[in-house]
Amino acid sequence: MSQTTQTDATGTDATGRTVLRTSGVTKNFGGLVAVDDVDVEVAEGEIVGLIGPNGAGKSTLFNCITGALDPTDGRVELRGEDVTDWSEDRVARNGMVRMFQHTHIYDEMTVHQNMLVSAHEDRGLVANLSPPSDAAREQADELLEYVGLAGLKDVKAGRMSFGQQKLLEFGMALMAEPDVLLMDEPAGGINPSMLNKLIEYIRSANTEREVTIFLIEHNIDFVMEVADRIYVLAHGEKIAEGPPEAIQNDDRVLDAYLGRE
Ligand code: ADP
Ligand code: MG
Repeated sequence: MSQTTQTDATGTDATGRTVLRTSGVTKNFGGLVAVDDVDVEVAEGEIVGLIGPNGAGKSTLFNCITGALDPTDGRVELRGEDVTDWSEDRVARNGMVRMFQHTHIYDEMTVHQNMLVSAHEDRGLVANLSPPSDAAREQADELLEYVGLAGLKDVKAGRMSFGQQKLLEFGMALMAEPDVLLMDEPAGGINPSMLNKLIEYIRSANTEREVTIFLIEHNIDFVMEVADRIYVLAHGEKIAEGPPEAIQNDDRVLDAYLGRE
């Protein structure tokens, strides 16, 4: 079993208030231990990265955190409250929202309509049949301006580039005004010019909109650039945590990525 790098910086950045904490989170799929006794902590105002080789358990950990999966063992806390058994909707209504690894937009709807759907999503069928409020429309307009898609608001979302769809999905996630946003591989499949934009948007959401961010990313340069702190998973276990510089030079991390274990 590998040891874990400890840093005193854990959860004490920014205001120091812990928004999200997992303790001993474990998820088994039959005989496979996909997530093995994982503790993570995200403080208010942080941007925290989660990295690890394919199949390390990163998405499964996110699923356990957001309520899409029930952990086999362990506890998930949102602002100190035990949310382990909460549904994904309830978690989202309480300020923790996730973005998916693959975009969840409606191709045949316009960009603006997609924004309004996400404003309605947690309000049930009746709300979905009633016209969106002026406030929701204004918020959609403002966010489309923010993510640079205002000029495309009446275009069918399916006609935009993959990178633009990712930005739309980011805007949709912000419609919920989350306190914590979990992003699963936001940079996946995005071209290099869009990558820098995405980094800017993540940073400004964090600083200007006060969104705490926990993100999984395959692109190591991206995560090193954007994250204040990083957790590393391999084979379901947390093998390292710390600031980007420490992670970059951690032998266990290199071993995990190079398969030298
Ligand atoms: P990562 O996101 O780090 O690439 P995942 O969390 O997707 O890894 O997967 C971790 C492990 O759990 C993998 O071996 C994967 O095949 C397995 N796994 C993920 N989801 C399921 C599932 N619903 N049923 C069975 N096995 C799963
Ligand atoms: Mg994944």
